[in-house]
Amino acid sequence: MRGSSTQLGRDVIGGRLLQNQARRESNARTYARSLSLALVRGEGIHLVDADGRSYIDCLAGAGTLALGHNHPVVVEAIRGVLDSGLPLHTLDFATPVKDAFVEELFAHLPAGLAPDLRVHFCSPAGTDAVEAALKLVRIATGRRSILAFTGGYHGMTAGALAASGPVAVRAPIGGTVSEVHFLPFPSAYRCPFGVGGAEGARIAVRYVERLLDDPSSGIPPVAGMILEVVQGEGGSNPAPDEWLRAMRRLTAERGVPLIVDEVQTGVGRTGRLFAFEHAGIEPDVVVLSKAIGGGLPLAVILYRSELDVWEPGAHTGTFRGNQLAMAAGTATLREVVGARLDAHAAEAGARLMDDLRAALAGSGCAGDVRGRGLMVGVELVDPAGERDATGAPPADGRMARAVQLECLQRGLVVERGGRHGAVIRLLPPLIITTAQLGEVIERLAAAVGAAERSRAVA
Ligand code: PMP
Repeated sequence: MRGSSTQLGRDVIGGRLLQNQARRESNARTYARSLSLALVRGEGIHLVDADGRSYIDCLAGAGTLALGHNHPVVVEAIRGVLDSGLPLHTLDFATPVKDAFVEELFAHLPAGLAPDLRVHFCSPAGTDAVEAALKLVRIATGRRSILAFTGGYHGMTAGALAASGPVAVRAPIGGTVSEVHFLPFPSAYRCPFGVGGAEGARIAVRYVERLLDDPSSGIPPVAGMILEVVQGEGGSNPAPDEWLRAMRRLTAERGVPLIVDEVQTGVGRTGRLFAFEHAGIEPDVVVLSKAIGGGLPLAVILYRSELDVWEPGAHTGTFRGNQLAMAAGTATLREVVGARLDAHAAEAGARLMDDLRAALAGSGCAGDVRGRGLMVGVELVDPAGERDATGAPPADGRMARAVQLECLQRGLVVERGGRHGAVIRLLPPLIITTAQLGEVIERLAAAVGAAERSRAVA
C-alpha cells in the first residue's frame, strides 16, 4: 500500500507542502511537528498523504472522528444542509437542524438526567465549553474554587488551562493558576500514594473526603469539581467506577456541582455513549465537543436546570451556530447508537488491550497497557531505570517518540500523551474492525521491537 508513488516523483509534492508549513506556520504547532504528514485523502480508518502513502489513523482528529473519515452518513448530512439553503452561520438562532440535534442528544442521555437539562451552545472548541462550565458553576454557587485532578487536561484557554495538569504550558503565562486546587487522580500503575490497585483508589477517595471537610484545608468554598472519567491527554488513565461514584457522592453531599468533561470520552469512545454511564452516576454538568460535531467544530455544555441562573449573554460568542456541524453531529450520534458502536468499542477495546499485552509481553519497555473502550494507551518505560514504590520503571518519553516514528514508517498514525510524553495513545475511529485492530497491533508491536533494537545499538 505504501511507497509505490515514490517512483512517480510525488514525494516532491508532500515535501514541498511540509517545507512551506515549516517556513510559515507557528512554532507552537503540535501534531504537525511529531508527524510529518501532508494529507490529501481520508476514507474510513485510512489517511492518504500527498505522496500516495496510506496510513491507519489511530489519531482520528484527536479522537474526534467516531465514524472515521468521510463516512457516508456524515457526508450526506452535510450535503443536505448545503442543498437546503439554510444560512450556514446562524449565531444562536433556532433552526430545524439545531432542533433535530438537540432532540437527538437529549434522547440518548440517561433517563434520570434528560428531563431536567439545559443545553448551552459554546464557541466551537472543547476549551470554550470548559470555560462555560466553570463560569456556570461559579455564578450558580457564588463560590470560586474549582477542584481539578492531577494529569487532567481541559483545554488551552485561560480558565480551562488553569484546571489542567501540565505545568510547562501553564507556567509561562502565570496568573491563571489561582482558585484551582488539584487533587490526586487514582492510578493503578502510577499510584500517587505509592500503593497502587484498588487500595490506592480508596486512599484517593479518603483524601478528598478529608480535604472537603477540613476547615484548615486552605481551599476557599468550592464552586465545582471537574474531571475526566478516562483522562485522555494525560495518558489514557481510566478512573475506577468506585472512585467516580465516590466523587459523585462526596460532591452531592456538599452541594458541589460535578462537571464531567466528556470532550474526548463522549459519543461511544469508552464503550458507553457517555463515559460517566459506566459508573451509573449523573453529573451536574457535562462538557461535549470533538465527536459531537461529527468531525466539524461544535461544543456544548449540558447542565441541570437549577444551575441556569446566569444572565443573558453570560457566555456568548459569534460562532455558536454551525449548521453543518450540528447536522454532522446528529448523523454521527444516530449512527453510533444505531450501529451499537459503543458496545463495539467496549468489546473491541477490551480485546485490543488483551492482545496488545500479549504482543508486547516480551518487551521490557512496554510498561503498562491501559484504557477503556477504544481509548487505549501503552506507557513506554526504561527497564534499566530505578523502579518506583510500586515497582514500575521510569516513564520513557524518548522511547515513545521513537515508537511513534517507527509506527509512522509502518503506516500507522498514533499520538503521544501522558507525563513525559511516554504514552502511545490509540484512538481509532469506532468503526474499526477486529481484523483491522489486528493489523494495528502487528504494526505497533513491530515498531516497539524496532525502537528497542535501535536503542540497544545506540
Ligand atoms: N477536554 C478534554 C478532555 C480534551 O481532551 C480536550 C482536547 N484534547 C479539551 C478539553 C479541549 O478541547 P479543544 O482542543 O477542542 O479546545
